Amino acid sequence: MIYSSLGKTGLEVSMLSMGSLVLGPAQYNLSTQESEKLIQYGLDQGINFFDTSEFYDVYPHLKYLSQKENVVISSRSYAPSKDLMKESLERARRELQRDKIEIFGLHEQESALTLKGHRGALEYLAESREKGLIDAVSVSTHYVSCVKSAAMLPEVDVIFAILNMEGLGIADGSKADMEDALAFARYMGKGIYIMKALGGGHLYRNPYKALCYARDFPYKDSVCVGFKNETEIQFACKVFCSEITEEEINRAQSQILRTPKKLVVEEWCEGCGKCEQKCGFSAISVADGKAVVDESKCMLCGYCARVCPNFCLKVI
Ligand code: SF4
Ligand code: SF4
Repeated sequence: MIYSSLGKTGLEVSMLSMGSLVLGPAQYNLSTQESEKLIQYGLDQGINFFDTSEFYDVYPHLKYLSQKENVVISSRSYAPSKDLMKESLERARRELQRDKIEIFGLHEQESALTLKGHRGALEYLAESREKGLIDAVSVSTHYVSCVKSAAMLPEVDVIFAILNMEGLGIADGSKADMEDALAFARYMGKGIYIMKALGGGHLYRNPYKALCYARDFPYKDSVCVGFKNETEIQFACKVFCSEITEEEINRAQSQILRTPKKLVVEEWCEGCGKCEQKCGFSAISVADGKAVVDESKCMLCGYCARVCPNFCLKVI
């Protein structure tokens, strides 16, 4: 595994990081034992960087990492104010059983305006960094404009942004726009890691090429991928270490292609519209009293499933 320094944070992270959304109720809902086995497999391959969020509801799955050394955990919260962010950080420290969460930040920011609206939370995180409760403050986003704004903020150390070879899911610009924004943020000294390298499943038809694009993008320190089995971890690690043969590529790709993902709406949907409000990709809407998914836009993140009061959305 290759490691790099995450901006100016002093943290050394593996170039491939493990996302945890896939483990929880929004996606595959693995048991803590299944998750721990997968996490240990990732650790055995040299992965030391694990991404999560309060919203994913997977802290119990990641508690296992409290017994491991040299691990970097990045989490975040939607909390907009100082008091609410304090609660979020305390919850993470308690449930992950860590005195310090290496990276903690603002979840799903959109622009300079939303960053301004979260100023209290941001100031609290900067104070927490001074006190040693965290090492670095992060911002996650699907927006080019947010990357540019966060790059200018002294409170922000790390940016977690969407990028993949087809520019899927970027909310306000093209792949080239996001590449430029991340290059600028890197120039400003921010640590960069990227999400949705596989386009939330849309790029499963050519995962090798998609991972190579992310691996070779020069203005990042790490690429976060959600893995649901050991085959996927092994494949990605081999790609990232450039140690993969043609035969291994073909074999792994055929296995990955056999497990496409899909967002399913159960028939008992009542058309309340909460999923539509939550989706950051405008991929679900209510028509004739039922939620309808636009598969061309859906990134299969499962965020909508987390807010459905009737549990009728599932990524399978
Ligand atoms: S949140 Fe659930 S019940 Fe409401 S519209 Fe969406 S799928 Fe239907
Ligand atoms: S509809 Fe939106 S929120 Fe739901 S899985 Fe697709 S992209 Fe994510």
